Amino acid sequence: MQISVTRNPNPAVKPDPATLGFGRIFTDHMFLMDYTAGEGWHDARIVPFGPLSLHPACTALHYGSEIFEGLKAYRRADGRVQLFRPMENIRRMNRSAARLCLPTIPEEDALEILTTFVSFEKDWVPSAPGTSLYIRPFLFGNDENLGVHSVHHATFAIITSPVGSYYKEGINPVKIMIESEDVRAVRGGTGEAKCGGNYAASNRAGEKAEKQGYSQVLWLDGVEQKYIEEVGAMNVMFKIAGEVVTPMLTGSILPGITRKSCLELLRKEGYPVSERRISVDELAQAMKDGTLEEAWGCGTAAVISPIGELCYQGKKYTVNGGEIGPVTHHLYDTMTGIQWGRIEDPFGWVYPLD
Ligand SMILES: *Cc1c(COP(=O)(O)O)cnc(C)c1O
Repeated sequence: MQISVTRNPNPAVKPDPATLGFGRIFTDHMFLMDYTAGEGWHDARIVPFGPLSLHPACTALHYGSEIFEGLKAYRRADGRVQLFRPMENIRRMNRSAARLCLPTIPEEDALEILTTFVSFEKDWVPSAPGTSLYIRPFLFGNDENLGVHSVHHATFAIITSPVGSYYKEGINPVKIMIESEDVRAVRGGTGEAKCGGNYAASNRAGEKAEKQGYSQVLWLDGVEQKYIEEVGAMNVMFKIAGEVVTPMLTGSILPGITRKSCLELLRKEGYPVSERRISVDELAQAMKDGTLEEAWGCGTAAVISPIGELCYQGKKYTVNGGEIGPVTHHLYDTMTGIQWGRIEDPFGWVYPLD
């Protein structure tokens, strides 16, 4: 692959790691590549980070043809930088693109682009505990007309952002609201694609939950509003009567890489685990009779996010006394240990860049 480079003539001073939030500061460069039907992908380039110029009729702005990914680069104690299962993100990105009829990128090319670009911005990978470089690849339809038809022009971009530790004051369990009006996705729709449109559909319930003091929404299925699906930007797992259970992938749930990794880890360690349908009634019963022992969300941003309270139809249920439970804690320690290279990776998940 040929990737041209235009260096930023005014590189920024690296931020104080204590001031890093999530996705507010960006690195000096970005990656761009264009697609034209008949010609394929072309003009792969690393350029100074800055605004994109878009035609006002750009497809993504009108018809929502946009998909994205999210992964991180981690700095180990020895200074080396590594990714976590990047091929999983690339494969999912192509599945999302295919669902929205956007062009896909050959896996090997996508991996080369990703590793070349992140290596180029490597000095931006912070080293303070819990910090990382968040990598946001995105791909959108970029035709310059309002006709609703298949995409002839598309743009693929990667931007990178140094992010702070998700848990500055220790891992505090979050409060989650089970949403029984709005739905996020339906089977046959775009729920299993990582696309911006799913987030647009989620905003109203998210705002409602936030107003009532809840940090995220737990979605029910879009057909019967009966089965648990996932939390805002995380998959969800429960420990019920000694068994770890998580909703099976039915087509409307985002297939998280953290979810997949947690399941592989727990199975390897011999925990009883099952992927199945979990009705909200079953969950409510487990909350009432005390067999719901732990609950947590899992996703790249927070890794593992313990759930301390669930609210359903106005009733509040405390999970594990509002404290982080032992399995949640173990998953957090092991996942972050592997990601930052503190503990050995028996799975071949980490992908060193140097
Ligand atoms: C990205 C995402 C997740 C988590 O996926 P990871 O690969 O673990 O980061 C879960 N749900 C939604 C809706 C997402 O967009």
